[in-house]
Amino acid sequence: MKTAKVPQIVRADKMPEGTPDIPVCIVGGGSCGLTAAIALRKAGIEVLVLERDDSGTGSSALSSGFIPAAETRLQKSLGIADTQQLLIDDVMNKAHGQAPLHLVKAYVTAVTQAIDALEAMGLPFEIVDGFLYPGHSVRRMHTMPEKTGATLMTRLAQVASDLGADVLGQARVCELWVNDQDRVVGVGYQRPDGAIEHLACQFVLLACNGFGGNTAMVKELLPEMANAVFAGHQGNDGTAIQWGRQLGLQMGDLDSYQGHGSWVTPQGALMTWAFIMEGGVQINAQGKRFNDETGGYSEAAVHVLDQPGSIAWNVFDAPLLALLQSFPDFRDAQAAGALRTAADVPALAALLGCDVATLQATLDEVQAGHTDAMGRTFSRALKAPYHAIKVTGALFHTQGGLEVDAHCRVIKTNGQTLQNLYAAGGAARGVSGQGAAGYLAGNGLLSAVGGGWLAAQDIAKQLQAI
Ligand SMILES: Cc1cc2nc3c(=O)[nH]c(=O)nc-3n(C[C@H](O)[C@H](O)[C@H](O)COP(=O)(O)OP(=O)(O)OC[C@H]3O[C@@H](n4cnc5c(N)ncnc54)[C@H](O)[C@@H]3O)c2cc1C
Repeated sequence: MKTAKVPQIVRADKMPEGTPDIPVCIVGGGSCGLTAAIALRKAGIEVLVLERDDSGTGSSALSSGFIPAAETRLQKSLGIADTQQLLIDDVMNKAHGQAPLHLVKAYVTAVTQAIDALEAMGLPFEIVDGFLYPGHSVRRMHTMPEKTGATLMTRLAQVASDLGADVLGQARVCELWVNDQDRVVGVGYQRPDGAIEHLACQFVLLACNGFGGNTAMVKELLPEMANAVFAGHQGNDGTAIQWGRQLGLQMGDLDSYQGHGSWVTPQGALMTWAFIMEGGVQINAQGKRFNDETGGYSEAAVHVLDQPGSIAWNVFDAPLLALLQSFPDFRDAQAAGALRTAADVPALAALLGCDVATLQATLDEVQAGHTDAMGRTFSRALKAPYHAIKVTGALFHTQGGLEVDAHCRVIKTNGQTLQNLYAAGGAARGVSGQGAAGYLAGNGLLSAVGGGWLAAQDIAKQLQAI
């Protein structure tokens, strides 16, 4: 690719003569873009997804692919008692009441419709079993049997293609053409040889995620994560926000993000927080625990980064190893040599580089029924031999973005809603309030799949009314 053109707004009444046109253009082919494309094709609407990579993968393919949804057909068939209101409450509680309620309600409703529809189109959803993520009241994480975002994306791409949605790869959208009434008339996208091609369209959905891969923006907006590893997709370069700034759009919660306190280092893999919820602990290089890990993995990122060397050791035992080995990311990390085993406390102290007495005192606190000074109540003790994996804090994705209404239409700073420009998934304001602590596990794909579905419904309704 020639030098990438900086995202810009082009003011024009119409696209250049001879520009091809399409009713709907989607910028970005991650889970948000593909879900929207599927919903639009189901409504019989022609759509083109423009994707900067060869094909749409994005952070969605790097994720675990766990999508929270309530009152789905699958949940009901398994006899899991859940309600959409309970999921709304869980999201709001984790966000300390700071998430935009209109979006939480809209996403929760839409994600159920999306999961049921996608299942009916052949996606073999299962519900994650064996543990609950912090803040979730019941089992509601819908996943592919392989428990990976990559397999979710492969299947979404297949359904989109079967329905006739076109995805054009190597098409990095860099221009948004907007008239004086703030109506989008088309886009310009850059091809690998540097040439800009144009497309006229009636509706545009920005599904190009946030700014986690843009170092300067992370430094500006999330200074506490400036030195953290970014574990998401490099395409999360802040394009939507850069357009939003030029267009005078409202932004929300730009200081909000999903961190993760369990990024295996130096191998670079996610170690699921399931091990914490089932009794594992994080210990620093001085042999001490440093927070109540059950609060959540997102806020744990900063706690881990604050430790000596910006690392911690995830410590667990044999029953937890068996649970962890059911996760493909963990198996990859183990295969890459991340797993260490210590026969007893002195051996574990030697591995961590701390003194034996301090580590022994730390592990003595891990007893069934005991509540420590940080507020964590343990359900069980850890038994030798001990397993340990070195981790650091990572930035997974940003949660702030363009302010949108309950149909995912973007809003100007003067409060006016744009009629044909939509944003969803990581490009839009999320539902996690501020900072890292408001992120409830699954908020990312809730916004991407729920938001993509929602935007598509509204676009379809508008097009059908024309
Ligand atoms: C390691 C990891 C694990 C995670 N696990 C989970 C989980 O289990 N559950 C959960 O809910 N969330 C999880 N997340 C968060 C989740 O991945 C994101 O919230 C979600 O993928 C966002 O989807 P999206 O479609 O908005 O963005 P993406 O999937 O990133 O898709 C955006 C697409 O837009 C393309 N693009 C960007 N700019 C342009 C442009 N200018 N022109 C054309 N194309 C462009 C990109 O190439 C990309 O394909 C995880 C994240 C990480 C990093």
